[in-house]
Amino acid sequence: MASNGNAKHVKVLILGSGPTGYSAALYAARAELQPVVLTGMQLGGQAALTYTIENYPGFPDGVGGAQLGELFQRQAEHFGAVTEFESANSVDLSQRPFKVVADSNEYLADALIVGTGASPNHLGIPGEMELTGRGTSYCATCDGWFFKDKKVVVVGGGDSALEEGLFITRYASSVTIVHRREEFRASPILQNRAKKHPKVDFILNTVVTEVIGTDKVEAIRLKNVITGEEIIYETDGLFIFIGHTPNTQMFKDQLEMDELGYIKINERMETNIPGVFAAGEAADPHFRQVVTSAGMGAAAAIQATRYLEATESSPITST
Ligand code: NAP
Repeated sequence: MASNGNAKHVKVLILGSGPTGYSAALYAARAELQPVVLTGMQLGGQAALTYTIENYPGFPDGVGGAQLGELFQRQAEHFGAVTEFESANSVDLSQRPFKVVADSNEYLADALIVGTGASPNHLGIPGEMELTGRGTSYCATCDGWFFKDKKVVVVGGGDSALEEGLFITRYASSVTIVHRREEFRASPILQNRAKKHPKVDFILNTVVTEVIGTDKVEAIRLKNVITGEEIIYETDGLFIFIGHTPNTQMFKDQLEMDELGYIKINERMETNIPGVFAAGEAADPHFRQVVTSAGMGAAAAIQATRYLEATESSPITST
C-alpha cells in the first residue's frame, strides 16, 4: 500500500461509529489518547437504524437508535475524540504504525480498534437486487413509512424480523412473516407480541424464491419446504431480516478470522496482531447487542491504552 506522505499520525484510530466505536472512543479519549473515529458509511452503525432500543440499560422507556448514537458521539467528543466522516478502504497491518487508507485521508495509527460491525444478508434470489429500493428493503426504520396502508411481507425468524415486523405495523395494513421453519429464533417476548398483534400473520416452513415486479414489488414466489408447493403471493413490500455478515473483508489475510469472517479475538479484544484490537459485531457472532458491543468497545480501548503504555519504552517505527 503506497503512502502519500501526508498521512495523519494518530495514537488510536477507531474504525466504525456504532456503539462499539464510540464507546472505544470515549475510553481512549478519557485516557488522553486523542482517538480519531472513522465513521464508515453509516454514522451510528446499525443501531442508528433501529427505531427504538428497549434493552439498553439506563433507558427504561426505550431510546431512539439514532438518538442513542448521537449521545454516544457527543459523550466521546466531549472528552476529545475526533470524528472523521469517511470510510477506511484498505489497511496494512504488517508494520507499526498501522497504515489505513480512507476515502480522503491516509492514517498511521499506533493502535487500531476495529469496530466495523456487520451488514444485512441478502437472500440472493431473482428480482431481489433489481427491486431493492423499489419495495424490497433491509431497513424498516428507513423504509417502513413508504408502506402506509400497504401489504408487507417480512422474511426471517430472529429478533430482527419480529421486531422490525412489529415496527412496520405502524404503517402497513398487514405484515406477513415468512419463516423457513416452524420454530422461531426470536426471544419469547417478541414472539408473543407478534403472535398477539392483529395486523401480523405467519407463513411457516416456507422460503421466498423470487421477487416479482417490473418497476416495483408486486408479488413474491413462495415455496413450502415440506410439501414443495409453490405459490405466487401478492405484496407491496418485502423486508428481509435474515442475519448479518461481519464487515471484515478488508482485513482478510491480515487478521485471523473464523469461517464466517468474524475476527478472532481473545478475552482482551486482542487480535493476532499486537496493537490491533477488534470489538462488537465484527468480532462477535454470539451476543450482538448494543450493550455488549459498547462493552467490547470499552474493553478494546482499555487494552489499547495498556498496549500503548507498554510500547512507549520500545518506540514505534515510523515510515
Ligand atoms: P438471526 O438471529 O441470525 O436470525 C436470522 C433469521 O433468518 C433466522 O430465523 C434464520 O432462520 C433466518 N434465515 C437465515 N438465512 C435465511 C435464508 N437464506 N432464507 C430464509 N431465512 C433465513 O439474525 P437477527 O434476527 O438479525 O439477529 C441478529 C442478532 O441481533 C441476534 O443475536 C439477535 O438476538 C440480536 N438482535 C436483538 C434484538 C433485541 O434484543 N431487541 C433486536 C434485533 C437483533 P433459522 O432460524 O432457520 O436459522
